[in-house]
Amino acid sequence: MKTSLNPPSGVESSTSPVRQDAGQVMPDGGFRPDSGRLRPALKLTESCNLACRYCYQEGRLDSGQFMSTETLERILSEVADNTRGAMHLLWYGGEPTLFGTRRFADALERAARAFAGRPLYHGVQTNATLIDEEWADLLAAHRFAVTASLDGPAWLHDSQRPDRRGEGTHSRAMAGIAALQARGIQPRVSAVLTPKSLPHAEELVDWFAENGLQEVDFVPSTRCARGRFEIEVDGEAFADFIVRVFNRWLELGRTDFRIRFLSELARKMAGHHPYFCKLEGSCSQFVVFGWNGNVYPCDEFSGLPETCLGNIHRNSLTELRNSERAQALFREWATIPEACLDCRWIRLCRGGCPWERRLGGSSTNPTIMCSALKALYERLAQELPGTAERWGAA
Ligand code: SF4
Ligand code: SF4
Repeated sequence: MKTSLNPPSGVESSTSPVRQDAGQVMPDGGFRPDSGRLRPALKLTESCNLACRYCYQEGRLDSGQFMSTETLERILSEVADNTRGAMHLLWYGGEPTLFGTRRFADALERAARAFAGRPLYHGVQTNATLIDEEWADLLAAHRFAVTASLDGPAWLHDSQRPDRRGEGTHSRAMAGIAALQARGIQPRVSAVLTPKSLPHAEELVDWFAENGLQEVDFVPSTRCARGRFEIEVDGEAFADFIVRVFNRWLELGRTDFRIRFLSELARKMAGHHPYFCKLEGSCSQFVVFGWNGNVYPCDEFSGLPETCLGNIHRNSLTELRNSERAQALFREWATIPEACLDCRWIRLCRGGCPWERRLGGSSTNPTIMCSALKALYERLAQELPGTAERWGAA
């Protein structure tokens, strides 16, 4: 599945340096990204042992292609040379655990050498089905923050996330999560929302809370079919779902259980920095490396020829991030859609995630999640007095 380019739960500690600047729009209209605080994500493979029915990796699930040591070394050295201070590395795929523990441990050693003398934090996004004792030990030893994909109870998860033989994967994912929890890692769960899950907002909140999970992120499904993205859950449907989720969460009164989008939005509305790119209002600090060294500005745009900045074997990271293509994309993404200018939540929202804008036809449109965002801003403002005033929306 796609990953939002953010540190998984546990990373955003008080020592976290993940607060980012947007970069700078220069007097000549150029855009200078703030490379010093880059947030890199490394896609170790496009292969996956699952065949989720909403997966965007059409035809690439059994590619058997993995990031080579040479590519990894090149990426690590470029990132180390172009950044300063603490570093967060996000490892993902496809399914990154297909890399195997031996190769992954070697990659971690190489990363430790590349960032020697600097604080280094790791995150991984996994379907958790291959997490056994050995994997859990390795991730715990390196104090990984883990995001695990889990759509909810077995009846739902198994119908949406079968393996490549068509068999359900719920019990394997739950076993992997339990192995992590036994070592003190509390994974954040990423639950993909489909039309099938939408009617079950309250049931889903209860199920995650009752099953020992501390944080869940509900991600509306955008399905890839024949090379085209289809929006399975639009803004209206998500608006209804997420407000019901919020109301249920309030009813439960469980402060030890978080709904990620809501808690990050509440942080932002209360005047703090959110740890979620879709709420930060800036994308230029992210960089994604494909298994073959191709470089993209964001995972949502990865695999698309028009948003590939080039390849790390042919150009330096500085050249790629300052290329005309990168500049044009960052400028486009930093531009607030005209249709948003009259919105009372403009200062808080700034038009939303550029990828979700593009799903609506063009990045000059408001995000396809606009109605959900408006509904949430209004609902949270009721619970957080002074919010509308703080954001000029009173
Ligand atoms: S386009 Fe920007 S806000 Fe949207 S997912 Fe990518 S980095 Fe995050
Ligand atoms: S809520 Fe909708 S209209 Fe308002 S700024 Fe956000 S995307 Fe634009």
